[in-house]
Amino acid sequence: MRAEERYDLIVIGAGINGAAIAREAALAGLKTLIVERGDISCGTSSASSRLIHGGLRYLEHAELDLVRESLLERERLLRLAPHLVEPLELCIPVYRGARRGRWQIGVGLALYDLLSAGKSLPRRRSFTRDELLRHMPGLNADGLVGGASYYDAQVRYPERLVVENVCDAVANGATLETHTRVTRIRVDGGRAVGVDWQSARGAGGAAAPLIVNAAGPWVDDVLGSIRHTRLIGGTKGSHIVVPRFEGSPRSGVYVEAGADQRPFFILPWNGLLLIGTTDERYEGDAGLATIDARERAYLVAETERVFPGAAGLGGRVLYTHTGVRPLPYEPRGSEGAITRRHLVRRHRAARGLYSIVGGKLTTHRALAEDVLRKLRGELPRPASRNLTRERPLPGALSAADRSALLAELAARFGERRAQRWLAVYGRRAADVAALAARPELGAPLGDSDVLTAELVHGITAEWAVTLEDLLQRRCMAGLDADFGLTVAPAAAAALTQLELWDAARAAHELASYRELAARHGAAG
Ligand SMILES: Cc1cc2nc3c(=O)[nH]c(=O)nc-3n(C[C@H](O)[C@H](O)[C@H](O)COP(=O)(O)OP(=O)(O)OC[C@H]3O[C@@H](n4cnc5c(N)ncnc54)[C@H](O)[C@@H]3O)c2cc1C
Repeated sequence: MRAEERYDLIVIGAGINGAAIAREAALAGLKTLIVERGDISCGTSSASSRLIHGGLRYLEHAELDLVRESLLERERLLRLAPHLVEPLELCIPVYRGARRGRWQIGVGLALYDLLSAGKSLPRRRSFTRDELLRHMPGLNADGLVGGASYYDAQVRYPERLVVENVCDAVANGATLETHTRVTRIRVDGGRAVGVDWQSARGAGGAAAPLIVNAAGPWVDDVLGSIRHTRLIGGTKGSHIVVPRFEGSPRSGVYVEAGADQRPFFILPWNGLLLIGTTDERYEGDAGLATIDARERAYLVAETERVFPGAAGLGGRVLYTHTGVRPLPYEPRGSEGAITRRHLVRRHRAARGLYSIVGGKLTTHRALAEDVLRKLRGELPRPASRNLTRERPLPGALSAADRSALLAELAARFGERRAQRWLAVYGRRAADVAALAARPELGAPLGDSDVLTAELVHGITAEWAVTLEDLLQRRCMAGLDADFGLTVAPAAAAALTQLELWDAARAAHELASYRELAARHGAAG
């Protein structure tokens, strides 16, 4: 890219929202540039509860329009990204003395069903105490009075959802610069006119009459000296990842914590359990947020309370995830009451500049549509609208195509690997398989299921640069029980052997990856 290329639109940040906006814009025919400080999806989008959900809890705050929109998007994602988004049953056990009684939960779930009329997912069920214990035998029976279940959806790898949004954007003409930090938004005569950036290759910049600041919890930092009232008041949320334990649930559990009556999730995920989240105001650098001892003890104790088989869980935490929700700045009131609805802020001090506040993983597509609608009056030429409502993600495939591809890949690469590839890459597994047919790329990394071809695919087809990018957000081995620490040295060695990295680079990448693992509490 030339130093001063001119675009119609620059999107700052390649989290789920920036990626979706860039996709929508590129499909609408806008010449679009995405600039990302780190890697695709390296921010909040990788630290969520991984649910594609209406947000049952938001009903308590009467956010009916948000719930309705989220439920519509949930249905769309089940259809347009079936390789990544799957139905998930969630059970709500109710214990004596709970803040939300059975009737209240029943009313909430009835409303949830009503707001998602016509959905493909099963409807709610209610359970007596004995029925629930039969349905979920590991539950603590003490004080249990009954419960209910309902369906939402889970995205095992939101990281891949973001990558695929970017893939579609680039396939439709967008340009992507990763590991490139926007250092300043240029303003001239009250108009935003471009950005300056810094990367390992040096300083640079690009011009555009429209700029969308989708930097998540870093939105205010990106605005720098541009006059604005504070937009983001992030809240920190942490999860622990643990192995399954005796009696651990096969469905998700959404249950009130004994300590503070906040509902939290215990979710079967990736062959493990994902437990969270906490929700507390956070003022530091979002990139440095980590779980603290109190949050960790809270999640462990509350899980042990609901599942006696979890006793001693504190010693079995595999790793943790912490993210900062980019919520609107509201200095007072409870964290849980801050709206999860997105806002698109137009900047008077820099016309043509818009900042995104909030926005759930679930509603990224609708948010992108909303942003394009807001930009409409300022676009250089008329643009088509609502282009993603029926557009599958690049890895999406029908059930029949999935079975055929699975059979073909299983015959060539083994059943387990074929299953994993389809869950990670969907249809794009065929591209990985084509690379794996080359003798130098067909070898597994150590004893793992991951092939060298997956690393090369990540680098050549999906803009991965570092070992962290590859393991955490491309081949997804970094989310295995060992945080990818077993496969990491083999991956670095394979890339050295292919002469993509020299020995010094491989050592540096490995050391950085081990530091990352330590920050996530993964045992080295
Ligand atoms: C604990 C937790 C649980 C959640 N659970 C769910 C859930 O289950 N379901 C759901 O729908 N939502 C959930 N959410 C909300 C959802 O994850 C976030 O709202 C969403 O991921 C925000 O995406 P984003 O693209 O706006 O921000 P981010 O993903 O943070 O992306 C912003 C990007 O901007 C980049 N950036 C920052 N500064 C610069 C710069 N100067 N130059 C260039 N790039 C820059 C960052 O590197 C980052 O990649 C959860 C959030 C948290 C924290």
